Amino acid sequence: MNNNLVDICVNLTDKVFSGKEDTIINEANKKNVTKMVLVGNDLSSSKKCQRLAKQYNFVSTVGYHPHNAKEWKEDSYAKLQKLIEFENVRAVGECGLDFNRNFSPPEIQHEVFAKHIDLAKESGLPLFVHERDAFHQMHKIISENIKDCKKVLVHCFTGTKNALEDYLSLGVYIGLTGWICDDRRGKHLRDFINIIPDDRLLIETDSPYLSPYISSKESNITSEMKYLNKPAYLTEIAKTLAKHRNQSYDHICDITYKNYINFFGTDK
Ligand SMILES: [Zn+2]
Repeated sequence: MNNNLVDICVNLTDKVFSGKEDTIINEANKKNVTKMVLVGNDLSSSKKCQRLAKQYNFVSTVGYHPHNAKEWKEDSYAKLQKLIEFENVRAVGECGLDFNRNFSPPEIQHEVFAKHIDLAKESGLPLFVHERDAFHQMHKIISENIKDCKKVLVHCFTGTKNALEDYLSLGVYIGLTGWICDDRRGKHLRDFINIIPDDRLLIETDSPYLSPYISSKESNITSEMKYLNKPAYLTEIAKTLAKHRNQSYDHICDITYKNYINFFGTDK
């Protein structure tokens, strides 16, 4: 057992991290956040994630975030197919449905998500799913497809206890972010995150978004820490999880590390 952590959702290609990748990764290493999954959200970020993952010895995903579904083109499927030939590309996504702000029209989101499911089935790679305000549709789609998909992760879960139970009954993995540390938006989650079985839990910062310090009243928390999330802050999420699951910090590190290996099929 060690107390190393894996951040399974880092948007390292976001412009706020541009040119600062070394610093961000060093800061994370100092906090024992030793591995990261670099998550693609369109074609160019997916390509960049794959390159950065190679450079830093991490793994990456490739796909179109539902916000970017409208950017999907006729040749996008073939381009993603090419990218997944790289050995460090370990999941298809993030992809899914986000009806919170509908940056892409819902029907296009559905079409593009279906393409990602096809790609996951064809490649045998796990599916990295984003769902916001689309639980019922998402639950139905996963239940219809899960037997042909290798593994499915619902990342950044922020829903209700019933939704969590329904997802878990499908056998998916659940990713939790700094949302659980947010007194305004994430408090409800703390009452039931203990129902996630040890072998289904993953943790993630989704940095640079969703800082775990957003609602902190501690005097040592700067406004930069509240609004610019980093992989180093994963420790805060692990601490909050340990507290509300009534488990030790080391146990959270241990199970989430093992789940990373099982889900992404790598110990890189
Ligand atoms: Zn997401």
